[in-house]
Amino acid sequence: MQIQMILILIIQLSSIVGGLTNASKNGHQKAITLKTAPNMRKPRTIVVGGGPVGLSAALLLACRGYDVTVFEATPTEKIKAFDPALAYLYNINFRGQVFTKKFPSVHNRLLKRSVPSTDTGLIVAPGDVEKKIQYPKLPIEEGDCSYWIPRHEMVLLMWDAIDQHNNERGDSNSVGRIDYEHGVDCIHVHPSDEHENHVSVVVKTKSNGKEKTVEANLVVGADGINSKVRECLRERAGLFETWRYNDKKFKIRKWVTPATGLRLKALQLPADNYWVQDANGQKVMIKKNDLVAVRGKRTGPLEYLSLGSLPVNHSTTIRPANCITRPNHVLWNMKNAAEMKTWFKDNFPRLDLDDMISDHEWERFAKADGLAFPPCQYSPGLQVSSDNNEYGVVLLGDAAHAFSPDIGQGINAGLMDAVQFNEILAKTCADEASIESTKITLGAALKEYERIRAPETRALIRLARFGSPYQYNQPWLKDRIGKKLWTANVIMRVFLNKLSFGIFPKPMILAASSKKLTYRQLVRRADLGTLGLVSAVVFSILKIFVSHTLFREKILPGVLTFVQ
Ligand SMILES: Cc1cc2nc3c(=O)[nH]c(=O)nc-3n(C[C@H](O)[C@H](O)[C@H](O)COP(=O)(O)OP(=O)(O)OC[C@H]3O[C@@H](n4cnc5c(N)ncnc54)[C@H](O)[C@@H]3O)c2cc1C
Repeated sequence: MQIQMILILIIQLSSIVGGLTNASKNGHQKAITLKTAPNMRKPRTIVVGGGPVGLSAALLLACRGYDVTVFEATPTEKIKAFDPALAYLYNINFRGQVFTKKFPSVHNRLLKRSVPSTDTGLIVAPGDVEKKIQYPKLPIEEGDCSYWIPRHEMVLLMWDAIDQHNNERGDSNSVGRIDYEHGVDCIHVHPSDEHENHVSVVVKTKSNGKEKTVEANLVVGADGINSKVRECLRERAGLFETWRYNDKKFKIRKWVTPATGLRLKALQLPADNYWVQDANGQKVMIKKNDLVAVRGKRTGPLEYLSLGSLPVNHSTTIRPANCITRPNHVLWNMKNAAEMKTWFKDNFPRLDLDDMISDHEWERFAKADGLAFPPCQYSPGLQVSSDNNEYGVVLLGDAAHAFSPDIGQGINAGLMDAVQFNEILAKTCADEASIESTKITLGAALKEYERIRAPETRALIRLARFGSPYQYNQPWLKDRIGKKLWTANVIMRVFLNKLSFGIFPKPMILAASSKKLTYRQLVRRADLGTLGLVSAVVFSILKIFVSHTLFREKILPGVLTFVQ
C-alpha cells in the first residue's frame, strides 16, 4: 500500500515536472519582444475561446503582428469571480513554462500567484482516527520546479497580460492588437460567401441573443473539449462542404480509462483555518502550500471518500478539497445540505466541520453537479486550409485533445500547441524565414503544424490512457485489481531499467519528466520495452515447450530404453 502510494506520488510529480519538447530545444524560451515588421501582411485572426490556450495563442499571434479578436463565452463578471464549479488547480510544468517564459509579464504574475512545487510538503490523515497523521517525503524533483495555480488565477493573469499588451502597444501598427468580447458564444464557422480568403465566425451575445458575423483569414479554435469550431469542420458547415478535405479527420477518437467518468466537486474550506486532529487529539494546522489527503473512515465502494487539497498561494482565502468518486457514490444522491453535513461529520471525525464550513457552503456543495472526467480523446485533424492556401482554421488545446487530469499535462500540452503553432507561423513572414525562398503560405504553415503536432497529440493520448489512471483510489474491485497490476508493471519496468543500466526504458509516465523526450519519443521507447518483454515471454514459453517435447520424445524414451 505504502509502495503504491509513494510510486503514485513519484509519478504525479514526474508528470507534473513534465519535459521540454522540441520547442525549448530550439531555444525558444527567450522572452518575446513586440515585433516591428513594417512590410508584413497581417492576417486578421479570430480566436474562439478565451481559456488559457486561446489567450496564449492570442498573445503569441499579436506579438507576431496579427490583429486578433477573442470571443469568450463566459461573461466578464464570471471571468473575474472565483467559480467553485471550476475550482481545480493547474500545475504549470516545463512545457507550460516554454510559453510563460516568453512573456515576462505572464511569468512574473505566475510566480506571484502560484506555489512552486519545491515548497510543498505532503500530509496524509488516515481514515482510522487512532492512526497517526503521516508526512511522507516527496521525491526531489530534477531541474526547474513547476507551479501550482488555481485555474481562475491562471485565466485572470492571462487576461491581465492581454490588457498590458494592448497598453504597451499603444497605437503601433506593426504590433497586433487584441480585441476581445466576453459573454459571446461562437455558434457557426464557415468560409465566407462575401469576402475572398476569409472565414466567417457567427457569434451570439448571451445577454441579448443578438447575432453577428465577423470575418478573418485565420480562425483558431481553442474552445475546449466540446469545440464548436471542430464540430463545424466535422459537419462541413456552410461552404466548408465545397472545400477539399477529409471531414472524417475531425471525428473524435476516444478511449474509456479507469479515470473516465469519475466525478469531481470541491468543498471550499477556509485556507487560514484548516486543521486536522491527530491520533493524540492535537490539532495539526494544514499549511497552504501542502498537498493534503484526508481519508474518510467509511470504506465501502459506494462510501469511500478522500478529501484532496492541492497547494494554494498565501493570498488565497479558500482551500478547495476535491471529492473525486464514481458517479454511483452516495455523495451524488445527497442534495440536501443538512444530510450532506451529517454524512461528512460522521465520515471525517478528524475535521471540525462545524467550525470550518458555513451553512451557505453546505447548501452550495450539496446542490453542485460537479464535473466529470472525460474519456481520453483527440481529433486526428488539426486544421483545414483553403485550396489557395490563403486562409484556414486550426484547433489548439482541449479542442484537439482532452483527458482526465491524472497526468497533469492538459494545460501544458495546450500551451505547447500554441508555442509550436507560433513557431511554424514564423515561416510565413519574409523577415523571419531565414531565406526568402523558405517563406511559406499560411495554408502551408497550417499543414506543417498538423504534420508535426498530430503524432505528438496521438502519443499524448496514449500517455494519458496508460500513465496513471488509478491514482484516485477508485474503490471497485476491478479498480483495485487493476491498480495492483499497474503498480506491478511500473515496478518491474523501473527494476529492469536499473538492472540494465538504463538500456531497458523507464515506464512511460516516469519518462515524461525527461527534458529531452517528446511525447512521441517517450511512448515509442515504452513500446519498445513492451515489445522486448513480450518477446522474452514468448521465447521462454517456446523454450520450455521445446525442451519439454525434446525431453518426452528423445531423452525420456532413451532413458526408459536404458533402464529396461
Ligand atoms: C475536472 C478537471 C480537472 C482538470 N485538472 C487539470 C489539472 O490539474 N492540470 C491540467 O493541466 N489540466 C487539468 N484539466 C484540463 C484542463 O482544464 C484543460 O486541459 C485546459 O483548461 C485546456 O485549456 P483550453 O484553453 O484548451 O480549454 P478550456 O480551459 O476548456 O477553455 C475553453 C474556453 O472556451 C470557451 N468556449 C467554449 N465554447 C465556446 C464557444 N462556442 N464560443 C466561445 N467561447 C467558448 C470556454 O468558456 C472556455 O473559457 C482538468 C480538466 C477538468 C475537467
